[in-house]
Amino acid sequence: MDMLIEKIKSEGVVLSPSVLKVDSFLNHQIDPKLMHEVGRDFADRFSNSGITKILTIESSGIAPAVMAGLHLNVPVVFARKRKSLTLVNDLITSTVYSFTKEETSEISVSKKYLSEKDNVLIIDDFLANGQAALGLADIAEKAGSSIAGIGIVIEKGFLKGGQQLREKGFRVESLAIIDSLENGMISFEKTSENVEELLR
Ligand code: 5GP
Repeated sequence: MDMLIEKIKSEGVVLSPSVLKVDSFLNHQIDPKLMHEVGRDFADRFSNSGITKILTIESSGIAPAVMAGLHLNVPVVFARKRKSLTLVNDLITSTVYSFTKEETSEISVSKKYLSEKDNVLIIDDFLANGQAALGLADIAEKAGSSIAGIGIVIEKGFLKGGQQLREKGFRVESLAIIDSLENGMISFEKTSENVEELLR
């Protein structure tokens, strides 16, 4: 995704060798045109997978997930991180350690919105150690749903999450894979898709 890589290059801020800030288009302010293209790319990659539902986690997964849902014409469910007065009965829950907040929280989805009839595409903004994706997969499995794959906007390829998820047999599709954030520089993994862009 050239458009996404350009955006990360021009607006991404390296906060540390393991954390990238993309507040200007994904994590605080949202770029709807870019998210529309992100959603289209996920939809293209999973167009033949028979997806019936998209599952994400609040809050930063919602924008790319909704756009993918729009292109695939399926509903989008997001796991809640906080208890809500309106979300009380028949919950499916899992425990997730947050990479950015460095705390463990319980995430939940109402049983009403996921079932054994569903074939789920999990979507999130970042993939680091894979905890969020594993928590969402756990929820889908507890609901009896099948999991068609995991779509990630930005994977940090130098952390273990991607490899672990793939070793577990999940199909993981990441639109941008970052190789390193060392020395304040963002470098991307060379794929056949972006090698020309990187050579320019
Ligand atoms: P994981 O669960 O794979 O360790 O981390 C993924 C989750 O942590 C995502 O839901 C994302 O919100 C957050 N996250 C991980 N790394 C980063 C990062 O470098 N920047 C931002 N903004 N969020 C991140």
